[in-house]
Amino acid sequence: MQPDDPTRPADRFLVFGAPQVGDAEIQEVVATLESGWWGTGPRAARFEKAFRDYKGASQAVALGSCTAALHLSLLAARLEPDAEVITTPMTFCATVNAIIHSGATPVLADVDPRTMNIDPAEIERRITDKTRAIVPVHFAGRACEMDALSAICRKHDLVMIEDCAHAIETEFEGRKAGTIGEFGCFSFYVTKSVATGEGGMVLTSGEEEADRIRRLALHGMTKDAWKRFGDEGHRHYFVVEAGFKYNMMDLQAALGLHQLKRVEDNWLRREEVWRQYDAALASLPLELPVPPASNTRHGYHLYTVLIDEAECGITRDAFLDGMTHEGIGTGVQYLSIPEHPYYRDRYGWSANDWPAARRIGRQTVSLPLSSSLTDGDVADVVTAVHRVLDRGH
Ligand SMILES: *Cc1c(COP(=O)(O)O)cnc(C)c1O
Repeated sequence: MQPDDPTRPADRFLVFGAPQVGDAEIQEVVATLESGWWGTGPRAARFEKAFRDYKGASQAVALGSCTAALHLSLLAARLEPDAEVITTPMTFCATVNAIIHSGATPVLADVDPRTMNIDPAEIERRITDKTRAIVPVHFAGRACEMDALSAICRKHDLVMIEDCAHAIETEFEGRKAGTIGEFGCFSFYVTKSVATGEGGMVLTSGEEEADRIRRLALHGMTKDAWKRFGDEGHRHYFVVEAGFKYNMMDLQAALGLHQLKRVEDNWLRREEVWRQYDAALASLPLELPVPPASNTRHGYHLYTVLIDEAECGITRDAFLDGMTHEGIGTGVQYLSIPEHPYYRDRYGWSANDWPAARRIGRQTVSLPLSSSLTDGDVADVVTAVHRVLDRGH
């Protein structure tokens, strides 16, 4: 390899978050296509049951996305129109947009600079007499401080909606993420650890809430379409509220059923990759993720490193370009929410008011962390990080 040759040439570019597909998924999708039942039906119902069993939850509703799951959970929580909902500035925009679309006002509470999760003390500081709910995000798969968050919810009579988009495998003191708050919202987007292309799920313990979410996901109709067109003869449906089109197709569930079977094996592989990164990057001037708290199980969804220009001799954005040049795909999770013009304009937010999230958002880089990575891929990522940082000095 010449000094300027990339670690991986363009035809071997390592795609960030590439999904892993097995023969079982492919066969199931083909069988679904041939069955003639592509929309919401028996496979979506089976996927709900499988996910409910995996998480030990009493109710599960499969939806088209985690964004839909968050939106409908917020509606099912029946917040007043002037309600405030507290969430983290270190999240994907979908979390905040769902709060806005539910009619509530989003309020941001800064994160702990080490765990990158919402700081319970910052939540307390932001509570007003209009606060009705909190939406914690288990960032990167790391469990939030659920004992502290649950205590805040009890004290102030708040609903907790967990954004578990990174947290399919996450646990806090043996309790599974998404079953601790009133609602748990999951994503099966392509880059997530169980992928259906687009897809999501709500877990809740309330039967009434689950029924309402199911109804809102399908236009506010009283009967779902697969019963409507089933073999029970014609049944009239009635629209009882103005709902949405948020249902999961059987084609998506066909993927999810088999992806879910491999969820634990894939988690073990990502844990291995995580440890390899920890060991191989320890000598560099990067800030690595802090070790998971011992009373939790980390989901290992993202491996994020912080590039402080003063330490690394290179800006974060130059580091990203350097990695692309080396043939390694990376991600930024996330620029902090108040950096985006829409929220700045609408709510008058300035990123400076959430300094921990601002710093992370400006310095963070996600390295590839999918179960499909070979040891050779991991070694290439490590080589590339070393080379890009060496060039910085
Ligand atoms: C991916 C993601 C979402 C949105 O999930 P979709 O299924 O794409 O709607 C929401 N919150 C977080 C933290 C995410 O990472």
